Amino acid sequence: MNMPSHNQLKMETPVQFVKGIGPKRATLLKRVFIETVEDLLTYFPRRYLDRSQLTQIRHLKAGEEVTVMGKVLSCETVRGRVSRYMLLLGDGTGILQCVWFRGVHYISKVFQIGDRVAFNGKITYYHGPQLVHPEYDKISEEGESDPVHTGRIIPMYPSTEALSRSGLDSRGFRRILRGVLDSMTESIPETLSQEIIRNQKLVSLSYALANIHFPQSWKGLRQAQHRLKFEELFFLQLFLALQRKTNQVEKKGIVFQIVGEQTKQLVDRLPFELTQAQKRVLHEIRRDMKKEQSMNRLLQGDVGSGKTIVALVAMLIAVENGFQAALMAPTEILAEQHYINVHGWLEDLGVQVALLKGGQRESERREILRKMSEGEINIVVGTHALVQESVCFKQLGFVVIDEQHRFGVMQRAVLRQKGYHPDVLVMTATPIPRTLTLTLYGDLDISIIDEMPAGRKPIRTFWRKEDKRDEIYTFIRREIGKGRQAYVVYPLVEESEKVDLADATAGYEMLSKQIFPEYKLALIHGRMKAEEKEKIMGDFTSGGIHILVSTTVIEVGVDVPNATVMLIEHAERFGLSQLHQLRGRVGRGEDQATCILLSQYQLSDDAVKRLKTMVETTDGFRIAEVDLQLRGPGEICGTRQHGILDFKIANLITDESILTAARKETFQLVEADFHLEQFENQQLRDTYLKRYQEKMGLMKVG
Ligand code: ADP
Ligand code: MG
Repeated sequence: MNMPSHNQLKMETPVQFVKGIGPKRATLLKRVFIETVEDLLTYFPRRYLDRSQLTQIRHLKAGEEVTVMGKVLSCETVRGRVSRYMLLLGDGTGILQCVWFRGVHYISKVFQIGDRVAFNGKITYYHGPQLVHPEYDKISEEGESDPVHTGRIIPMYPSTEALSRSGLDSRGFRRILRGVLDSMTESIPETLSQEIIRNQKLVSLSYALANIHFPQSWKGLRQAQHRLKFEELFFLQLFLALQRKTNQVEKKGIVFQIVGEQTKQLVDRLPFELTQAQKRVLHEIRRDMKKEQSMNRLLQGDVGSGKTIVALVAMLIAVENGFQAALMAPTEILAEQHYINVHGWLEDLGVQVALLKGGQRESERREILRKMSEGEINIVVGTHALVQESVCFKQLGFVVIDEQHRFGVMQRAVLRQKGYHPDVLVMTATPIPRTLTLTLYGDLDISIIDEMPAGRKPIRTFWRKEDKRDEIYTFIRREIGKGRQAYVVYPLVEESEKVDLADATAGYEMLSKQIFPEYKLALIHGRMKAEEKEKIMGDFTSGGIHILVSTTVIEVGVDVPNATVMLIEHAERFGLSQLHQLRGRVGRGEDQATCILLSQYQLSDDAVKRLKTMVETTDGFRIAEVDLQLRGPGEICGTRQHGILDFKIANLITDESILTAARKETFQLVEADFHLEQFENQQLRDTYLKRYQEKMGLMKVG
């Protein structure tokens, strides 16, 4: 193949044709997912070094994050029990010491006396100001004419050791990107329509790419960042908007005409009045159910806000219209709980409810599947695996997905692709920040239950350490004396499953033999057989067990209003949303409930923040926001959501307004030109197809 000369670069040109990148570097770049010119151009600087914002060494203060620039005065590897590399940097106002304990061999080849270097990091003190493992960037000599490395605002690129070794450190990236941009700034095609660019006051893509790498000014950089964030969020929202619109125009949904006698009876029979929020949400659902488009609705509401009963009413409406309903839960134990619940409410209304789960006898399972396919069963409860079983319904009309972020946009698309167009109600118990909702559930309409049933007393939360253990037991004894029940929860982290199980088992032995021999205790954990778990849950629900010791299997959904104490052992090891879920297991009745977080003495900063947050608030949204800050969006949603939350530049914590704007534009666009076929949307359509259709391998445009 002829090497295209570097001034003919296009976005899709493979990187090995870029000046300065040979086959060897191309291979290394591939490992960090840079294969084309476009990938290179969207390999954004991690930070920028502002020459006007350097800190002079004499002004360094411990604890501050700073960038310091100067000359290398000396550098050496100090051998010893722990070898280290020491470097002294001078800037005319003082001397700064930099130290490396790791990668000593590599780093010792990087610097030479006399190099001009910028270091960035947090200052500590050790016989003077010190930086440990700072980030660094070699800078050209002052007065050198090469503008690539000496502009006022210098980009700093992330790199790996392997890349650095082959010359692709921050400086190397700078050189290559300068070359790429010089040869193609004019020919970078625009991806958005002029209308959107005008509406949103965006800079052009070519200006943005030029300025994200080599900002002419801080203003230019901000405009570039804004444009690129917008673009990234725009195409994701476009994907979601198209999903939604496809569903609307298809009109393949079911029209649920009536609300029948059984539904009315169920509501009449409830021992409580539905809250205003529940009524409003039911109304929204009912309205959707009557339409010929299939419903795709998210039901959001904090733990204990009463989502289940709402879902139940909706399912019953579907059943009364001659359809079947499915309720899917993320875990087996939750599915069992739901089953007990649903079965309990609907039994004497003549509705047939079945539980489908792993570990059932083959004959039993086959019998259920047969009844499903023949329509004898009205409502099936199971885990998310039910999606695979959906083939064997006679007339599936309504699906409730009770989820913990484990059932994503993609799985919902799969459900629809199977040819079913049931109404779908997704329930999430964990409130998540709005930006995340609009991303993870951006294809759904949203209903929110923002009101707790009347008469609930806020749960009291205490954070205690080992020294208070006896008092805690005394407290539990007092609550049981009043006729209440308690949970004691131990962590279960997969990597150390055995140890944790041993922990829970030992805890149970100790509690049942030594502390509370007079009470009835039971241990429940994920390794038990389904029947055993079911039996124990049943006993606990009916009050036959005073204290339920468990691993986190009880996290969601378990509903025993008489339980008023939640004691969480090793609370520091739980994530915030787990803690919130666990706490939500109590305070479900009218009695004052208490949650006790028992922790070790030595805790990480994050653990302290989590426990403090739990003590300070019961507001699920507030907790979700702290969680997002502590862990970042990717972690919160787990690997399943990978790809959807992988942003190169957008940030779901800080870019809410950009996300809102992008969403508005996509929804307008899809209304105006669903197939993206108008001339001015061609470029946009091509970009969308390239980025999303291939990536997700799922949706057709239009
Ligand atoms: P969620 O699923 O939102 O966590 P549930 O639906 O499990 O909450 O409801 C929690 C508890 O509150 C259940 O015991 C339920 O019967 C009860 N409940 C639901 N709605 C009301 C209401 N309007 N008034 C009083 N109690 C209610
Ligand atoms: Mg629930």
